[in-house]
Amino acid sequence: MSAKKIQSIAVLTSGGDAPGMNCAIRAVVRTSVSQGIKVFGIQRGYSGLLNDEIHEMDARSVGNIIQRGGTILQTSRCPEFHEKEARRKAVEILKKRNIDALIVIGGNGSFAGAYTLFQEHQFPVIGIPGTIDNDVFGSDYTIGFDTAVQTAMEAVDKVRDTAASHKRNFFVEVMGRKSEAIALHVGVCSGAEFIVFPHKGIDYEKIHQNLKRGIDSGKQASIVIVQEGEKPGKSYEISETLYEKYGLKSHVCILGHTQRGGKPTAIDRFIASKMGFDSIHALMEGNYPSVSTFCSGKVTMKPFEDCVGVRDPYDQPYGDLAKELSI
Ligand code: ADP
Repeated sequence: MSAKKIQSIAVLTSGGDAPGMNCAIRAVVRTSVSQGIKVFGIQRGYSGLLNDEIHEMDARSVGNIIQRGGTILQTSRCPEFHEKEARRKAVEILKKRNIDALIVIGGNGSFAGAYTLFQEHQFPVIGIPGTIDNDVFGSDYTIGFDTAVQTAMEAVDKVRDTAASHKRNFFVEVMGRKSEAIALHVGVCSGAEFIVFPHKGIDYEKIHQNLKRGIDSGKQASIVIVQEGEKPGKSYEISETLYEKYGLKSHVCILGHTQRGGKPTAIDRFIASKMGFDSIHALMEGNYPSVSTFCSGKVTMKPFEDCVGVRDPYDQPYGDLAKELSI
C-alpha cells in the first residue's frame, strides 16, 4: 500500500494479443479521464516504453474500439526487458514524463516484468490479465479466453458439417502451447469424441478405441480436439500414425491464429471493462501494486505478489466430461 496521489498514468499491452484488450484500454482511458487523471498510451508494449513511444490519450482516442479484436496500442515481446538496465531506463522514461503509475495488460511474462519494476524501483504498477490461454496465476479468468473458445467452437461446428457429409474423422488442432484450457473447453462445447494433450503422451490405442466406438455405434463422423503443443502441426503426425497402426483414416484442420482475432464476446467486453475501471479506482485508493483478477465469479483486486508465478495445471476433469457426453 502507498499513499502517493496518482495524477498521471500510462497503459500498455504486452505479450500475445487477445480479444478484449481494447475494451480494457477503453475502460482505463475513460475512467482516468472521468476522474481527472492524465492518461498516456504506450505503443508496442515494453519495446515501445523503452523507445519512448508514448502519447497522451483522451476519451475520443478510444472511440469505436470496444468491438475490435487485437490491441490499438499494439503489442510486442521485448527480450531486453529481462535486463535490469532496461527496466531502470523504463522507469526513467516514465518519470521524465511525470507518469505516476503503469497499467500492464498481458499474461504471466508481462506481469513478471511489471512486478519487477515495482520491486526494483517501487514504481506503482497494476496488472490486467489479458491472454487467450486463461493461464494467469492468481486469476480464474483472463480477457480473451471466451472469445477464443467461441471462435474455435464455431470453426469445429463447420468442420463437423463436412465431416458428417463425408463420414470422416477429423483432428482439429486448437491453440494453447502451454495451456490446456482452450482444448478442454472447445472439446466440451463442440461435443468432441476425444481431446489429446500431446505433452502428456499420446495414447493411440485409446484414440482408436474412441473413434471405433463411435463408428460401431453408427456415428457419421468424429471430432478429436488436439492441443497445439510446442509447435503447430502435431495433428498430422497423430493422424498418420493412427492410419499406420490401425488403418483408420482421418483429416486434419489446424485453426491457428484465427483464434486470436475477432470481435470480443460480451463476457470478454464486460470483464475487461470492469477490470479497467477497477484498476484506476485501485490506483486512486493507493491499492497497488495489484492485479485486477476474476475470482469466484467476481472481478476483485489482489496484491500483485499473489499473481506472479506459474499457475497449477488446469486440472478441470473436462476431458472425461467431453468423452462421456460424446457416446
Ligand atoms: P505473456 O505476457 O503473454 O505471458 P511473454 O511471456 O512473451 O507474454 O512476456 C511478454 C514480455 O514480458 C516479454 O517479451 C518481456 O518483455 C516481458 N517479460 C517476460 N518475463 C519477464 C521477466 N521475468 N522479467 C522481466 N520482463 C519479463
